[in-house]
Amino acid sequence: MAIESFNPYTNRTLRRFRPFSWAKTERILSQTHREAARWRTSSFAERAVCLQAAGRLLRERQDELARLMALEMGKPINDGRAEVLKCALTCDYYAEHAEQFLADELIKTEARRSLISHEPLGVVLAVMPWNFPFWQVVRFAAPALMAGNVGLLKHASNVPQCALALEKIFQDAGFPTNAFRTLLIGSDLVAKLIADDRVRAVTLTGSEAAGASVAATAGANIKKTVLELGGSDAFIVLADADLELAAKTAAQARMINAGQSCIAAKRFIVEKPILKEFISKLKTHLLALRTGDPLEETTQYGPLARPDLADDLTKQVEESVKKGARVELYGGQSKPGTALFRPVILSNVKPGQPAYHEEFFGPVALVLEARNADHAVQLANDSPFGLGAAIWTRDVRRGEELARQVEAGAVFVNSLVKSSPEMPFGGVKKSGYGRELSYLGIREFVNQKSIWIANEATPSAHKTKTE
Ligand code: NAP
Repeated sequence: MAIESFNPYTNRTLRRFRPFSWAKTERILSQTHREAARWRTSSFAERAVCLQAAGRLLRERQDELARLMALEMGKPINDGRAEVLKCALTCDYYAEHAEQFLADELIKTEARRSLISHEPLGVVLAVMPWNFPFWQVVRFAAPALMAGNVGLLKHASNVPQCALALEKIFQDAGFPTNAFRTLLIGSDLVAKLIADDRVRAVTLTGSEAAGASVAATAGANIKKTVLELGGSDAFIVLADADLELAAKTAAQARMINAGQSCIAAKRFIVEKPILKEFISKLKTHLLALRTGDPLEETTQYGPLARPDLADDLTKQVEESVKKGARVELYGGQSKPGTALFRPVILSNVKPGQPAYHEEFFGPVALVLEARNADHAVQLANDSPFGLGAAIWTRDVRRGEELARQVEAGAVFVNSLVKSSPEMPFGGVKKSGYGRELSYLGIREFVNQKSIWIANEATPSAHKTKTE
């Protein structure tokens, strides 16, 4: 894939970038590897000063960065600013808490002193997607840098300017030049990088196919991976829910980032007595949303990030309709090869249709009918994915009980699914493994080292345990 900034709203290429050669990539890898040996010796205080500065720069540059996202992948400017501010908050969060999250943990054993220390691994390669070009990267980079690792970023090929802006932020914030580097490379060089001993771990956020390929190479080279992959999140609405609020939130949850969010609500599983009314309210709320130029302040959803993504989504919708899904609302593309995709609602979603089994990465709401709450959970779990889910009910105790039965990395009761620095984020099943954010995220890329200080060596101490 070419590395280029392509504006999906105007259908124009803005800038093309020459991909780095392997020689250049290898040079940067060796610079980051050298830096890793130094950065691991820095103090938490030193790292925190740099990360807080990165947070300040993100706030200062929010307009410029939001503009880049609008131009490169069609995100409305207001949403772009919010994304940048969330990145800044996350920098503050890890600057403040990393030392506590990675503090030595004393363990009571027969030793005089035994503990777990958390030590950096070295160079961590991050393969990232275009849908939240700043957030996806910062939620990896902030904890990784605070843990004493260094970062190598291979961003999606359609957001090169965002990728370069991120490198500049970390450098301007005072991090050593080679503590965070952007590689303008295609996915063809990723396997070679993973195979290099100087890369110690890999994190990928993206599709199942990319995750499987990266994990296979990492497995062959015995490297730790975190995979944040796709999702087809269930949004369960029980008959006793606040229907108006549920439907309004459903529209919002489906339309985040023009529907291109891994944790966007995708499957709306609704109890039969309220199904018709839910669809009617959802339709009203979806139709009320304004599309337009992502650079306009009033735009609520923009085009999809690339025209080919809209073409693919149209195929998924058409195939599902051919196999029995019912069209309740049809927006879609105005013509093939264009990125704008207006909201669609499909009902009568059944096994055998792409709508039942696949992720729909755009503004298509898939509605499934549930006989009761248990059936709703059964439908929610009948998916290859397990990223997030929402349950709407006035009985919050029942909501919590059902939340425990849903196979997902996160379940929200009476709220849309969202990420925040304090709570772990990640999936089960085909949505991936490992966690980002919270104290769990920062512990993914550290050596959890056991340190055992025996009592002074005595013959009997040697005789006891040898393993
Ligand atoms: P994608 O095509 O998998 O691309 C993601 C990244 O992987 C890009 O940098 C891409 O590079 C690279 N890549 C693709 N194929 C690769 C391969 N075989 N080997 C190594 N690298 C490879 O995904 P996307 O279309 O950008 O993003 C959408 C997907 O990401 C959706 O499924 C969405 O649900 C998922 N996602 C998950 C999360 C989460 O946290 N769980 C968050 C956001 C998105 P190129 O651009 O150069 O191809």
